Amino acid sequence: MAGQQQYGFNKLQKRIRRDVGRAIEDFNMIEDGDRVMVCLSGGKDSYTLLDVLRYLQRIAPISFELIAVNLDQKQPGFPEHVLPDYLTAEGVDFKIIEEDTYSIVKEKVPEGKTTCSLCSRLRRGILYRVATELGATKIALGHHRDDLIETMLLNMFYGGKLKAMPPKLVTDNGEHVVIRPLAYAREKDIAKYAEAMAFPIIPCNLCGSQENLQRKVVKQMLQGWDKQFPGRIESMFSALQNVVPSHLADPQLYPFQSIQATGVAGADGDTAFDPPELVGSAAFVDADDQQQQAELAIPVVQQVR
Ligand code: SF4
Repeated sequence: MAGQQQYGFNKLQKRIRRDVGRAIEDFNMIEDGDRVMVCLSGGKDSYTLLDVLRYLQRIAPISFELIAVNLDQKQPGFPEHVLPDYLTAEGVDFKIIEEDTYSIVKEKVPEGKTTCSLCSRLRRGILYRVATELGATKIALGHHRDDLIETMLLNMFYGGKLKAMPPKLVTDNGEHVVIRPLAYAREKDIAKYAEAMAFPIIPCNLCGSQENLQRKVVKQMLQGWDKQFPGRIESMFSALQNVVPSHLADPQLYPFQSIQATGVAGADGDTAFDPPELVGSAAFVDADDQQQQAELAIPVVQQVR
């Protein structure tokens, strides 16, 4: 790598490692003595996840084990040797599970319908079973920040729920803890990193299924915003970490029915009649938004005078 390129790569690597380290710490994802099963699909995200976790394993003050697991779903054309070759060369402990979910999915799902949801359900069940067999205490998945935001928007648009993809969760059967250490990492950083590291990527469309169309549309929308309004995705992610139940509308989450005037000013002051604060930090605001904020702020200033 030329000097300038090397400098750029070092910065990128540092940023991804820092993002992963922060997520692990913020959510207490990995503890001393953990055996972490890293799910490796052969895509850019899971290679990056494994690579960064291996680095953190070397420098962390705690001790934990890593075992990479790939599920060979018997899709036609799946290059069986790629992952074992890579993992052996890297000296990573790994296990390849062979389960022909491809045939099941093809048999059960009518032609032309998307097969992804049944396929992922089957995959999930198998991975949980394998985690038990391997004595894994954590299951690490390669979802990143952009996946979390896309999921939030998809749930809002099509599911009627304010719900994203959590960085850490207990599985439905209550038996495992799933972690997403890339939760703070940007997809574009991961893509650049995977390219620079020349990971032997296995294409994800071998099964011939269409990627979920709605997700594709949301992804394109976010990418468009990112170009037009830099900082908007960061702001949306911050929103996931700054939830204000009293300013949403879920009576299960906040006791709206029983709230009473107390006669005492709230700690944050009364903002009931103020225009909404659009963003938390000027760093996230593009010029148009700043203009809009300035316009919104005028009546407040006049009111104060
Ligand atoms: S793209 Fe293919 S392998 Fe991936 S989840 Fe969908 S059906 Fe399964």
